[in-house]
Amino acid sequence: MTKEALTKDFQAIVGDDNVFTSETDRHSYSYDAAVLDSVMPALVVRPTTSEQLGKVTKLCNENGLPLTVRGAGTNLSGGTIPHPGGVVVLTNGLDRILEINEEDMYAVVEPGVVTAKLAAAVAAKGLFYPPDPGSQTVSTIGGNVAENAGAFAASSTASPRTTSWAWTSGTSTAN
Ligand SMILES: Cc1cc2nc3c(=O)[nH]c(=O)nc-3n(C[C@H](O)[C@H](O)[C@H](O)COP(=O)(O)OP(=O)(O)OC[C@H]3O[C@@H](n4cnc5c(N)ncnc54)[C@H](O)[C@@H]3O)c2cc1C
Repeated sequence: MTKEALTKDFQAIVGDDNVFTSETDRHSYSYDAAVLDSVMPALVVRPTTSEQLGKVTKLCNENGLPLTVRGAGTNLSGGTIPHPGGVVVLTNGLDRILEINEEDMYAVVEPGVVTAKLAAAVAAKGLFYPPDPGSQTVSTIGGNVAENAGAFAASSTASPRTTSWAWTSGTSTAN
């Protein structure tokens, strides 16, 4: 399939405004906080629902397109540097806190929720979310789980992976 045809297919899933093809846009997602060479993706796609995320993943799979998930791109390991000609999938359109369960002490969030936003939401209920990477005002829960990111509070209590996390498509559960 041509790049133009693929672009149209992605646009049909997430809308024209959520597929980025210009060189400027693609350059913005060609690197992260690691000191490594950048790599230009073919396309950048921004799903805003779990259903869209599933369809985007399926389309990549059917066309053999390497897919790189990107939260805030603050990782220091090159994890969001895409494959040449691959697709970057942004999670910043999946940023809803779906549930904070005070009785059983867990939260259900989409992966693009910014860490500090979840911490503030649970703090408003008198609770404490320990993982506190220095990047927490921009980093996402999905990126935190993938990198097991935390800092001072997390080291004395819990990091994203020391408690149970369950994933469904596009949604994380934390406790
Ligand atoms: C100034 C600064 C301070 C930092 N401080 C700390 C610190 O105190 N402690 C610490 O541990 N780290 C720290 N980091 C590193 C970094 O912020 C963390 O690793 C953070 O968790 C990355 O989150 P992110 O949303 O930016 O993820 P990204 O960089 O976007 O992604 C990180 C990895 O996770 C994958 N990923 C992202 N979302 C998903 C998803 N939904 N599903 C599957 N895979 C996914 C990506 O493909 C990539 O491999 C810091 C970085 C900076 C720049």
